[in-house]
Amino acid sequence: MAWLSSGSSNAGLIKNLASNGLITSERVKNAMLSVDRAHYAPYAPYTDSPQTIGYSATISAPHMHAHALESLLPYLHPTARVLDIGSGSGYLTAVLAALIGPQGHVVGIDHIQGLVDLATSNMQKSEQGREWLKSGRVKLVKGDGRKGFKEDGVEGWDAIHVGAAAKEAHAVLIEQLRRPGRLFIPVGEGSQYIWVIDKKEDGSVVREKSFGVRYVPLTDAPPEEGE
Ligand code: SAH
Repeated sequence: MAWLSSGSSNAGLIKNLASNGLITSERVKNAMLSVDRAHYAPYAPYTDSPQTIGYSATISAPHMHAHALESLLPYLHPTARVLDIGSGSGYLTAVLAALIGPQGHVVGIDHIQGLVDLATSNMQKSEQGREWLKSGRVKLVKGDGRKGFKEDGVEGWDAIHVGAAAKEAHAVLIEQLRRPGRLFIPVGEGSQYIWVIDKKEDGSVVREKSFGVRYVPLTDAPPEEGE
Protein backbone atom coordinates (compact mmCIF):
# COMPACT_ATOMS: atom_id res chain seq x y z
CA MET A 1 0.00 0.00 0.00
CA ALA A 2 1.23 3.42 -0.93
CA TRP A 3 1.30 4.96 2.56
CA LEU A 4 3.62 2.24 3.77
CA SER A 5 6.49 3.84 1.88
CA SER A 6 6.24 7.38 3.32
CA GLY A 7 9.28 8.68 5.21
CA SER A 8 10.33 11.70 7.24
CA SER A 9 13.24 12.55 4.92
CA ASN A 10 14.17 11.96 1.28
CA ALA A 11 16.49 9.12 2.34
CA GLY A 12 13.78 7.64 4.58
CA LEU A 13 11.18 7.70 1.78
CA ILE A 14 13.56 5.99 -0.63
CA LYS A 15 14.63 3.41 1.93
CA ASN A 16 10.97 2.53 2.48
CA LEU A 17 10.24 2.37 -1.27
CA ALA A 18 13.17 -0.03 -1.60
CA SER A 19 12.24 -2.20 1.35
CA ASN A 20 8.67 -2.45 0.01
CA GLY A 21 10.03 -3.68 -3.33
CA LEU A 22 8.98 -0.56 -5.29
CA ILE A 23 12.59 0.31 -6.05
CA THR A 24 14.59 -2.75 -7.04
CA SER A 25 17.77 -1.37 -8.63
CA GLU A 26 20.68 0.45 -7.03
CA ARG A 27 20.78 2.86 -9.98
CA VAL A 28 17.19 4.06 -9.43
CA LYS A 29 17.76 4.20 -5.68
CA ASN A 30 20.90 6.34 -6.02
CA ALA A 31 19.31 8.63 -8.60
CA MET A 32 16.26 9.21 -6.36
CA LEU A 33 18.57 9.83 -3.39
CA SER A 34 20.42 12.49 -5.40
CA VAL A 35 17.28 14.57 -6.10
CA ASP A 36 15.56 16.02 -3.03
CA ARG A 37 11.81 15.68 -3.57
CA ALA A 38 11.29 18.71 -1.28
CA HIS A 39 12.50 20.90 -4.15
CA TYR A 40 9.56 19.71 -6.26
CA ALA A 41 6.65 18.85 -3.92
CA PRO A 42 5.30 21.93 -2.13
CA TYR A 43 4.21 20.19 1.08
CA ALA A 44 4.63 16.73 2.62
CA PRO A 45 7.34 15.90 0.04
CA TYR A 46 8.19 12.57 1.65
CA THR A 47 4.62 11.22 1.75
CA ASP A 48 3.96 8.46 -0.76
CA SER A 49 0.98 10.13 -2.43
CA PRO A 50 0.37 12.52 -5.35
CA GLN A 51 0.22 16.22 -4.44
CA THR A 52 -1.22 19.27 -6.08
CA ILE A 53 1.24 21.65 -7.77
CA GLY A 54 -1.35 24.12 -9.13
CA TYR A 55 -2.85 24.43 -12.64
CA SER A 56 -4.97 21.27 -11.94
CA ALA A 57 -1.76 19.24 -12.07
CA THR A 58 -0.21 16.93 -9.51
CA ILE A 59 3.25 15.63 -8.83
CA SER A 60 2.81 11.87 -9.08
CA ALA A 61 3.29 9.65 -6.04
CA PRO A 62 6.85 8.52 -5.32
CA HIS A 63 5.95 4.85 -5.92
CA MET A 64 4.69 5.73 -9.43
CA HIS A 65 7.88 7.64 -10.19
CA ALA A 66 9.89 4.65 -8.93
CA HIS A 67 7.90 2.28 -11.09
CA ALA A 68 8.32 4.37 -14.24
CA LEU A 69 12.07 4.71 -13.64
CA GLU A 70 12.51 0.97 -13.07
CA SER A 71 10.59 0.26 -16.27
CA LEU A 72 12.63 2.68 -18.41
CA LEU A 73 15.96 1.81 -16.77
CA PRO A 74 17.32 -0.57 -19.45
CA TYR A 75 17.06 2.34 -21.93
CA LEU A 76 18.66 4.97 -19.68
CA HIS A 77 22.29 4.49 -20.74
CA PRO A 78 24.91 7.26 -20.41
CA THR A 79 24.19 8.87 -23.81
CA ALA A 80 20.43 8.25 -23.82
CA ARG A 81 17.98 10.79 -25.17
CA VAL A 82 14.87 10.90 -23.01
CA LEU A 83 11.55 12.72 -23.39
CA ASP A 84 9.40 13.39 -20.29
CA ILE A 85 5.91 14.41 -21.44
CA GLY A 86 3.76 16.26 -18.89
CA SER A 87 6.84 17.18 -16.88
CA GLY A 88 4.82 19.19 -14.31
CA SER A 89 6.96 19.76 -11.22
CA GLY A 90 10.10 18.64 -13.07
CA TYR A 91 10.89 15.98 -10.46
CA LEU A 92 10.95 13.00 -12.78
CA THR A 93 12.83 14.98 -15.43
CA ALA A 94 15.52 15.58 -12.79
CA VAL A 95 15.78 11.95 -11.74
CA LEU A 96 15.95 10.91 -15.41
CA ALA A 97 18.84 13.37 -15.82
CA ALA A 98 20.58 11.77 -12.86
CA LEU A 99 20.25 8.34 -14.51
CA ILE A 100 21.97 9.28 -17.76
CA GLY A 101 25.45 10.73 -18.25
CA PRO A 102 26.74 14.18 -19.22
CA GLN A 103 26.47 13.18 -22.90
CA GLY A 104 22.82 12.21 -22.45
CA HIS A 105 19.88 14.57 -22.85
CA VAL A 106 16.45 14.88 -21.23
CA VAL A 107 13.67 17.11 -22.50
CA GLY A 108 10.74 17.81 -20.17
CA ILE A 109 7.70 19.10 -22.02
CA ASP A 110 4.53 20.58 -20.52
CA HIS A 111 1.77 22.56 -22.20
CA ILE A 112 1.38 25.06 -19.34
CA GLN A 113 4.02 27.81 -19.27
CA GLY A 114 3.49 28.30 -15.52
CA LEU A 115 4.52 24.68 -14.97
CA VAL A 116 7.54 24.94 -17.27
CA ASP A 117 8.58 27.95 -15.16
CA LEU A 118 7.86 26.05 -11.93
CA ALA A 119 9.94 23.05 -13.04
CA THR A 120 12.77 25.41 -13.99
CA SER A 121 12.75 27.18 -10.63
CA ASN A 122 12.46 23.84 -8.78
CA MET A 123 15.49 22.51 -10.63
CA GLN A 124 17.44 25.68 -9.92
CA LYS A 125 17.18 24.99 -6.17
CA SER A 126 20.13 22.59 -6.35
CA GLU A 127 23.67 23.01 -7.65
CA GLN A 128 23.19 19.84 -9.71
CA GLY A 129 19.95 21.11 -11.25
CA ARG A 130 21.50 24.49 -12.14
CA GLU A 131 24.39 22.69 -13.82
CA TRP A 132 22.04 20.45 -15.85
CA LEU A 133 20.09 23.46 -17.12
CA LYS A 134 23.27 25.37 -17.92
CA SER A 135 24.98 22.50 -19.73
CA GLY A 136 21.84 21.55 -21.67
CA ARG A 137 21.69 18.05 -20.20
CA VAL A 138 18.13 19.11 -19.27
CA LYS A 139 15.85 21.23 -21.39
CA LEU A 140 12.35 22.26 -20.23
CA VAL A 141 10.01 23.33 -23.00
CA LYS A 142 6.39 24.32 -23.54
CA GLY A 143 4.41 22.30 -26.05
CA ASP A 144 1.74 19.71 -26.74
CA GLY A 145 3.33 16.44 -25.68
CA ARG A 146 0.80 14.41 -27.69
CA LYS A 147 2.88 15.36 -30.71
CA GLY A 148 6.13 14.27 -29.08
CA PHE A 149 9.10 16.57 -29.59
CA LYS A 150 11.69 16.87 -32.31
CA GLU A 151 15.08 18.50 -32.12
CA ASP A 152 17.17 19.50 -35.11
CA GLY A 153 19.62 16.94 -36.28
CA VAL A 154 18.77 14.22 -33.77
CA GLU A 155 16.78 11.15 -34.50
CA GLY A 156 14.36 9.80 -31.92
CA TRP A 157 14.24 8.99 -28.23
CA ASP A 158 15.63 6.02 -26.33
CA ALA A 159 12.92 6.44 -23.70
CA ILE A 160 9.67 8.40 -23.57
CA HIS A 161 7.79 8.84 -20.29
CA VAL A 162 4.25 10.18 -20.29
CA GLY A 163 3.08 11.60 -16.96
CA ALA A 164 -0.61 12.12 -17.83
CA ALA A 165 -3.26 9.72 -19.14
CA ALA A 166 -3.55 9.65 -22.94
CA LYS A 167 -6.70 8.72 -24.85
CA GLU A 168 -4.56 6.40 -26.93
CA ALA A 169 -0.93 5.42 -27.29
CA HIS A 170 -0.28 8.13 -29.89
CA ALA A 171 1.33 6.68 -33.02
CA VAL A 172 3.62 9.70 -33.34
CA LEU A 173 5.21 8.87 -29.98
CA ILE A 174 5.96 5.33 -31.14
CA GLU A 175 7.33 6.77 -34.40
CA GLN A 176 9.68 9.01 -32.41
CA LEU A 177 11.21 6.04 -30.53
CA ARG A 178 14.67 4.89 -31.49
CA ARG A 179 15.33 1.24 -32.32
CA PRO A 180 15.43 0.03 -29.60
CA GLY A 181 13.34 2.40 -27.54
CA ARG A 182 10.65 2.25 -24.88
CA LEU A 183 7.47 4.28 -24.27
CA PHE A 184 5.90 4.27 -20.78
CA ILE A 185 2.39 5.68 -21.05
CA PRO A 186 -0.83 5.63 -19.02
CA VAL A 187 -3.75 5.14 -21.43
CA GLY A 188 -7.50 5.34 -20.95
CA GLU A 189 -10.45 7.51 -20.11
CA GLY A 190 -12.23 6.22 -17.01
CA SER A 191 -10.13 3.17 -16.30
CA GLN A 192 -6.50 3.78 -17.12
CA TYR A 193 -3.67 1.31 -17.52
CA ILE A 194 0.05 1.68 -17.92
CA TRP A 195 1.23 0.48 -21.32
CA VAL A 196 4.88 -0.30 -21.94
CA ILE A 197 5.55 -0.14 -25.65
CA ASP A 198 8.88 -1.29 -27.07
CA LYS A 199 10.30 -0.64 -30.49
CA LYS A 200 12.80 -3.38 -31.24
CA GLU A 201 16.03 -3.13 -33.27
CA ASP A 202 14.20 -4.43 -36.36
CA GLY A 203 11.49 -1.79 -35.99
CA SER A 204 8.79 -4.18 -34.76
CA VAL A 205 6.60 -2.88 -31.94
CA VAL A 206 5.61 -4.88 -28.87
CA ARG A 207 2.86 -3.55 -26.57
CA GLU A 208 2.35 -4.73 -23.03
CA LYS A 209 -0.62 -3.70 -20.88
CA SER A 210 0.41 -3.37 -17.24
CA PHE A 211 -1.48 -2.39 -14.07
CA GLY A 212 -4.38 0.06 -13.47
CA VAL A 213 -3.53 3.67 -12.50
CA ARG A 214 -5.06 7.12 -11.94
CA TYR A 215 -3.36 10.02 -13.71
CA VAL A 216 -4.65 13.48 -14.66
CA PRO A 217 -5.52 13.49 -18.38
CA LEU A 218 -3.33 14.57 -21.28
CA THR A 219 -5.49 17.37 -22.70
CA ASP A 220 -5.66 20.43 -24.93
CA ALA A 221 -3.85 23.34 -23.32
CA PRO A 222 -6.08 25.70 -21.31
CA PRO A 223 -6.44 29.17 -22.91
CA GLU A 224 -3.78 31.58 -21.68
CA GLU A 225 -4.56 35.00 -20.27
CA GLY A 226 -5.45 37.37 -23.04
CA GLU A 227 -6.34 34.61 -25.53
N1 SAH B 1 5.44 13.97 -14.07
C1 SAH B 1 4.77 15.10 -13.49
C2 SAH B 1 3.27 14.92 -13.63
C3 SAH B 1 2.52 16.19 -13.65
S1 SAH B 1 0.76 15.97 -13.83
C4 SAH B 1 5.16 15.21 -12.03
O1 SAH B 1 5.27 14.17 -11.38
O2 SAH B 1 5.33 16.33 -11.53
C5 SAH B 1 0.59 15.86 -15.56
C6 SAH B 1 1.13 17.00 -16.34
O3 SAH B 1 0.77 16.82 -17.71
C7 SAH B 1 0.61 18.38 -15.96
O4 SAH B 1 1.71 19.16 -15.62
C8 SAH B 1 -0.09 18.89 -17.23
O5 SAH B 1 0.07 20.29 -17.43
C9 SAH B 1 0.61 18.09 -18.31
N2 SAH B 1 -0.13 17.92 -19.56
C10 SAH B 1 -1.42 17.60 -19.75
N3 SAH B 1 -1.72 17.54 -21.06
C11 SAH B 1 -0.57 17.83 -21.74
C12 SAH B 1 -0.23 17.94 -23.13
N4 SAH B 1 -1.13 17.74 -24.10
N5 SAH B 1 1.05 18.25 -23.45
C13 SAH B 1 1.99 18.46 -22.47
N6 SAH B 1 1.71 18.39 -21.15
C14 SAH B 1 0.46 18.08 -20.78
